[in-house]
Amino acid sequence: MNIVFLGYPGSGKGTQARFIAQKLGMVHFAPGDILWDEVVKKTPLGMEVHDYLSSGRLVPDWLILRLLKDKFAAEKRGILFDGFPRTLEQAEALDAWLSSRSAALSAVIYFNLPEAAAAKRLEGRVACAGCGASYTAPAGAPLSACSACGGALKRRDDDVPAIIQKRMMVYRDQTEQLISYYKSNDILVEVKADQPQQAVTVQVATALKSVL
Ligand code: AMP
Repeated sequence: MNIVFLGYPGSGKGTQARFIAQKLGMVHFAPGDILWDEVVKKTPLGMEVHDYLSSGRLVPDWLILRLLKDKFAAEKRGILFDGFPRTLEQAEALDAWLSSRSAALSAVIYFNLPEAAAAKRLEGRVACAGCGASYTAPAGAPLSACSACGGALKRRDDDVPAIIQKRMMVYRDQTEQLISYYKSNDILVEVKADQPQQAVTVQVATALKSVL
């Protein structure tokens, strides 16, 4: 089974993706997390993408597609795509890549949350540098340690108001069109993402039951 989680940055899809992928024994593909990790480690890939990430622009399609293909060439498990695809070109390339593996998408879960609410969540978001767990802390508040693994909590450099606005605009311009793309393929299921985390998990689990 292969699934896409679609929605604004800050709509909660990353938190749900980590949980659901683990529960279902799927691999979690979150290019944003992978790329930020490369930036922090100052690898050649990190240097290449740093300007895109820190300004809130999408990295070129070919680079994301290369990442996907390199990472999963030999992967046999189902993949949960979180924050990918983000352009029509990526969506079409994903369909072609899956089809070349005699696979397809089973469902696309659309996390419906108003833009302002998503932006507010990003402003308060902190993540563990060790295990990736996500927490909320008001802007400017001191950061404690991760309650799951004790790792250091950090804010991402792109979770600041000016860059958040840019990321929202990029979503509207380039990613939002995927809602109708997947609706026309009849695999889109919408969840109300303005609910508490557990209530969203229940909606996602219910949506996925029909394709399991
Ligand atoms: P995210 O953590 O999903 O908000 O992604 C953080 C950043 O990584 C984005 O602002 C982009 O610069 C880059 N990125 C993540 N996923 C993609 C994608 N599918 N296509 C292009 N750029 C991406």
